[in-house]
Amino acid sequence: MDCIHCGLCLSQCPTYAEEGLEADSPRGRIYLMRALAEGRAEPTAEVTRHFDSCLGCRACETACPSGVRYGHLIENTREFLKQEQAPTKHRSPLVQVLEAVFPYSPRLDALLIAVRFGRKSGLIWLARRVGLMKLLGPLGAMEANLPPLRPFGSHRKFPVETKARGKEAARVGMVTGCVLPVLQPQVNEATSSVLSKAGCHVAAPRNQRCCGALHAHGGDLDTARKFARHNIALFEAWQAEHGNWDAIIINAAGCGAALKEYPAWLSEDAEWRERAEKFAAKVRDVSEFLAQEPFASRLQVLAGPPQPPAQPSRMPDATHGAAREAVPNTAGAASLPANASGRDDKLLPLEGDEQTKAAPGAPELASPRRVTYHDACHLAHGQGVRAQPRQLVKMAADGLGVELVPLGESEMCCGSAGTYNILQPAMASQLLERKMKNIQATGAGIVVSANIGCTLQLRGGARQLNSPLQVLHPVELLDQATQLTTDGRGEPRRGSAGS
Ligand code: SF4
Ligand code: SF4
Repeated sequence: MDCIHCGLCLSQCPTYAEEGLEADSPRGRIYLMRALAEGRAEPTAEVTRHFDSCLGCRACETACPSGVRYGHLIENTREFLKQEQAPTKHRSPLVQVLEAVFPYSPRLDALLIAVRFGRKSGLIWLARRVGLMKLLGPLGAMEANLPPLRPFGSHRKFPVETKARGKEAARVGMVTGCVLPVLQPQVNEATSSVLSKAGCHVAAPRNQRCCGALHAHGGDLDTARKFARHNIALFEAWQAEHGNWDAIIINAAGCGAALKEYPAWLSEDAEWRERAEKFAAKVRDVSEFLAQEPFASRLQVLAGPPQPPAQPSRMPDATHGAAREAVPNTAGAASLPANASGRDDKLLPLEGDEQTKAAPGAPELASPRRVTYHDACHLAHGQGVRAQPRQLVKMAADGLGVELVPLGESEMCCGSAGTYNILQPAMASQLLERKMKNIQATGAGIVVSANIGCTLQLRGGARQLNSPLQVLHPVELLDQATQLTTDGRGEPRRGSAGS
């Protein structure tokens, strides 16, 4: 613990920013960790609540001049608390249920049968009307934030291989995740679609397991290591049979940070340490990968610069899902067609818009021609990836004729933080409110972020405000931009693809 107590991290810590309490700051928590390690404090409820209140967002790591690796400290502390059977929310029955369901797509998918039935039959609507959903506590709130669900078993249909469009420039493996394929399958589809357009052959082997982040953040590092070993072995076996990949792609910030931590998790395992290092060396967030050459150039040519519309066209209204006249674009941008995707989702707006329809009396509508970017904590602080997603979002925005505007406090956590919004709903709500105010101040009608936790949380914020805000992953925007400018085979309508 190299903390020199300088306090430079305090202003960056969301819980300190909200509460102003030293014990709920990085410096205060490190002090408590040291006291526990030296036997000067006992892991009582009074002590553990300050660790429970930590988001694990790692904003303090970014701010720290001493290189304190706070993410490791909090994970190890939670593991210690688990071993000591200390009173902590991370060992509550609710967390154990979540840990038994969330990392397993088939289990999550099966559990959501009840939600699908409840929604279709109107029972959930009725239960909400008479206040029954409140009795379910955090689970009731979770349901409200869930996007529209695809039919049971849909997540199994994601293709194992997707060929490169045009000349092949790279071969990549793809980590598909556990919650994402069930709740936001369109993000995985957009990821493989964009990678393919950028010239990548994409392989997504079956039988992948959760990255282990959920368990690691809760202090169950043993289970996290089991997931890590499984995934490493699975991806090694694929490459042994089909040839080596240039990169292993992940589109969820929390998972990407965890995959890059495999060498640390397995550092004391002689059999797996080196294999973990080889695996992690190839892991790239999708934006980190696509921002490189030759992929960025290929997508640049596909996405823009925008051309003026040949004639006035109509675009889907991001606020009500109904067509309205396209807003004239002073930059001469192309107007968006009603549906150019050819998939079962629509082109702006996407799935879930019915949950963010503006209600009577809703706030002034933000512009669907303006987009802003929220940094997922585990991408910005956990992986140091900030410029690349902005570069790609700007490219897509230019192609779509949408303006990218900066977001105030963009690196401040939105309150999602894995299971944090379930375990600490009050603080999570405060942080979400702060985030939504910042988003509203931009006047953007679209917010983009690269983590499923963030996008679900922001969607929930928009729903609470009756806001028409669209919440997308950067690859969804990029996929839309490139759909507008390709001839259906992924070839650019003009210029060369750069390879
Ligand atoms: S991880 Fe986030 S919430 Fe926890 S101490 Fe660091 S900045 Fe604060
Ligand atoms: S910035 Fe780093 S060294 Fe300074 S108080 Fe925070 S954790 Fe300690």
